[in-house]
Amino acid sequence: MFDGLSDKLSGILDRLTRRGALTAGDVDAAAREVRRALLEADVALDVVRGFIDKLKERAVGVEVIKSVTPGQMVVKIVHDQLIETLGATADPIDLNAPSPVPILMVGLQGSGKTTTSAKIARRLTDLHKRKVLMASLDTRRPAAMEQLAVLGQQVGVETLPIVPGQTPVQIARRALDAGRLGGYDVVVLDTAGRTTLDEAMMAEVAEVKQAAQPHEVLLVADALTGQDAVNLARSFNERVGLTGIVLTRVDGDGRGGAALSMRAVTGKPIKLMGVGEKLDALEEFHPARIADRILGMGDIVSLVEKAAATIDAEKARRTAERLRKGQFNLDDLREQLEQMLKMGGLGGMMSMLPGIARMKNQIAAANVDDRIIKRQIAIIHSMTPKERRTPDLLKASRKKRIAAGSGTKVEEINRLLKMHRQMADMMKQMGSGKRGPMAGLANA
Ligand code: GDP
Repeated sequence: MFDGLSDKLSGILDRLTRRGALTAGDVDAAAREVRRALLEADVALDVVRGFIDKLKERAVGVEVIKSVTPGQMVVKIVHDQLIETLGATADPIDLNAPSPVPILMVGLQGSGKTTTSAKIARRLTDLHKRKVLMASLDTRRPAAMEQLAVLGQQVGVETLPIVPGQTPVQIARRALDAGRLGGYDVVVLDTAGRTTLDEAMMAEVAEVKQAAQPHEVLLVADALTGQDAVNLARSFNERVGLTGIVLTRVDGDGRGGAALSMRAVTGKPIKLMGVGEKLDALEEFHPARIADRILGMGDIVSLVEKAAATIDAEKARRTAERLRKGQFNLDDLREQLEQMLKMGGLGGMMSMLPGIARMKNQIAAANVDDRIIKRQIAIIHSMTPKERRTPDLLKASRKKRIAAGSGTKVEEINRLLKMHRQMADMMKQMGSGKRGPMAGLANA
């Protein structure tokens, strides 16, 4: 799966070589490649657009960490964003409802709906130890009903006896009654498909949904149909309302566009994927694993993650060392503020640096939130290296220049400097082992 995309993206690696922060030019070049790769993979156009915009926003200005190349850095960013597009976390079938839990299977004829119903029933029986009943609601094709019964036998799952002449809604009701009476945990309802998306099918599915009140409504969509599958998902979701998608024939899908677009277009998760004709060829959809497969660059991603972790640890150690010696300049403060943003605010940071925990009150008193932290970082960025090391240099004219450069006000700079001074004083006291007036606050 996704071979094309992976090949295309690897080109990015070779072309980016400059060190330092990723420039807009670097990122534009990479974004063009990513865009082309996604379009060739048949990813929906608006999804590609959103992806590229976010990629640029995220990548420009990112510092390339030591021991990786800028290209590798970009691959990591693309990888993280792929995961996000695919849905971040795996989203398994939800059985959290009173028994029997109704699951409604919908989709076009030939998409693999009946096979997938049996695969799911098998999975719930074998893996989750549930008692499952299946029923075919395809009243127009007796062969489809027979097919489900045969598949049921193969996977050892009961199917509702066929009663000719009943409507889909009647069969659904009968299945749920049988489910209740028979002590079943789950009832899988396989609705009739049509060869094309039409209103009659939608109306029938909507009617069954109304009657059965399913806990899950799963669209079975053929990955090989690419954009059509995505449009189908959109229509079904709008007309009937889905809780999830099962993508079939992922084993034959070399492009992966449907997989990548589904979540972004419908907002509904891909829960499972069919990866073969055999009845055990059904897998949970794990966005992180899929992103790895799409990029085919798992080793690079872990390389960057490891390098980043090492650098963070190194930085933290260095800072801790300086703090112990009572040195705390504005570069240190900036590092702490950046760390705070990265760790998701104050709480995360506390666990990183023992010394910093003691500053909790100062920072909280300064009423720091993400927006303010970003402004403070911008202020420090607008200073010269010498000013950052020697804040005493910062007199009125320099402050004015910095305020203009960072788009802030002189008062904000004063507030930042005051916060820094307090923190530095405290550091000194901690460094000298004396218990200063603030030390008592450490565990507050
Ligand atoms: P339905 O008309 O939607 O109920 O489709 P079926 O369940 O009858 O499936 C149509 C064909 O697709 C059958 O030959 C299945 O074995 C095949 N099929 C279903 N899912 C998959 C899959 O994930 N991979 C592959 N390769 N074939 C599949």
